[in-house]
Amino acid sequence: MAVGKVFLVGAGPGDPELLTLKAVRAIGAADAVVYDQLVPGEILSLIPDGAARINVGKRAGCHPVPQDEINRILVRLARAGRVVVRLKGGDPFIFGRGFEEALELDSARVPYEVVPGITSAQGCAAAASVPLTHRGLATGVRYVTGHCRSNQPLALDWASLADADTTLVVYMGLANIDEIASNLIAHGLSSDTPALAICQGTTLRERRLFASLGDLPNAARTAEFAGPVLFIIGRVVAIAAEREGRAAAANTATMGVVA
Ligand code: SAH
Repeated sequence: MAVGKVFLVGAGPGDPELLTLKAVRAIGAADAVVYDQLVPGEILSLIPDGAARINVGKRAGCHPVPQDEINRILVRLARAGRVVVRLKGGDPFIFGRGFEEALELDSARVPYEVVPGITSAQGCAAAASVPLTHRGLATGVRYVTGHCRSNQPLALDWASLADADTTLVVYMGLANIDEIASNLIAHGLSSDTPALAICQGTTLRERRLFASLGDLPNAARTAEFAGPVLFIIGRVVAIAAEREGRAAAANTATMGVVA
């Protein structure tokens, strides 16, 4: 039997309308879809009735399927001649381990194609009217991971990240937001720097929380977010804060949660 093909597809930040046309076409043509926890039900509903659905975000209600096993599943399905969609939140190559899967497919000689997705930083920021770069406010943007192995300090270059001229977007940072905010402030970023936490951005369940950097950890804890959270830190956040009628967000304490 001829080897099938794997499409490594970015599902975008959550809103199904932010899928690319290529992603929709690949999902529609799939024999099997292997998906993560991040992909919302609205997008999973596009999977054709006859296609196998394999949730690797959760196994027996607890831990995610280990990466090695995901790799094996993809190779096995493709070798059985299937058209496989590996569906990942955002973009497959931004904090998505998509490239690890691509390398495995290469070494198993399974053909694959990458379908880029809108990464959550871009999708969530623009949808919240936050320009990640803006003349006079931010000359660049950095995406960093706020996740570390348990009990390890974050391996980030705080001195370079504490840059008032660059917007900082932190993925997977909720559990470590205390450490992140205090390190940025200790390395010279003002505690008044505007910040925004977005939970389940671009979905119907989206919540936005504006706070100064100094108040962000406390505000994020109190918010009891359920779902993926992204932090955007930098002067550009003040534009959105003002637009949402929260003009004082740049200088003062927590501005509240938009449900
Ligand atoms: N590949 C994904 C990122 C995977 S890491 C991408 O390109 O977006 C998972 C992290 O992404 C989450 O912890 C969160 O920080 C962020 N994230 C993904 N979707 C999100 C959403 N809809 N709202 C807020 N944060 C999101």
